[in-house]
Amino acid sequence: MTRDTPHDGPPPPALEAIGLSKHYGSGAGRFDALSDVSLSIQAGECVAIVGKSGSGKSTLMHLLAVLDEPSQGQVRIHGTDARSLSARALNRVRNREFGFVFQQFFLNAQQSVLENVTLPLTIAGVRRAARRARALEVLGSLDLAEKATAKAVTLSGGQKQRSVIARALAGDPSVIFADEPTGNLDSQTGAIVEEMLFALNREKGITLVIVTHDDELAARCDRQVVLRDGRIISDSAAAVLEEATR
Ligand code: ADP
Ligand code: MG
Repeated sequence: MTRDTPHDGPPPPALEAIGLSKHYGSGAGRFDALSDVSLSIQAGECVAIVGKSGSGKSTLMHLLAVLDEPSQGQVRIHGTDARSLSARALNRVRNREFGFVFQQFFLNAQQSVLENVTLPLTIAGVRRAARRARALEVLGSLDLAEKATAKAVTLSGGQKQRSVIARALAGDPSVIFADEPTGNLDSQTGAIVEEMLFALNREKGITLVIVTHDDELAARCDRQVVLRDGRIISDSAAAVLEEATR
């Protein structure tokens, strides 16, 4: 991905939110889901976004992932203002640069695992043979090769979420966004899925942004950003920085 300006210093953050706000409705019915949130996430970080239900976690994640547009503020992806990207370029970012692992799976139940996993590549315009090869490779790496032709509806919860991870990995993303990734899983299966996500961060350097209300999961991340009523009330990275410069 190209940047706005040539750059000799350290690489720009993988993701930046600058003064992000999001409101729903208008007038007396206006609701501020997110207010003036600024945040930088470096490439390779593993960040938990935590807070009570309704605090704006999913809203922030959707904005960072350019799945939704802010009411105010901007999102920068590897230094590039998302607003400067064409629809086609945004499509490519969402399908190749980013991977998504959401609580509700969002698998097409009647399609095969293989078809589900190739979907982002299909959208990104990758040729059939290449996307099939890539999907089989990823499914193999997650021990799901034998499920490639099974309909998604026949899978267990854990197999579904592993298929979702395979789909997230199909485009070889630099960032994975996970929204309550273990919320629909029993604790043992959830632990396996968590381990897979952390391994991707550790071993492949994939930036991980995990929305969770699970304190244990959050504590395993490098950094915890806490939201309340649509605002950041604490950020462990900022606390560390403050400590270092005191
Ligand atoms: P969280 O993920 O922390 O539970 P959300 O980001 O989903 O919170 O939502 C934050 C607030 O914004 C909630 O009060 C929610 O009801 C509201 N909200 C989210 N999406 C919409 C929408 N499309 N229309 C109106 N209100 C919404
Ligand atoms: Mg949410």
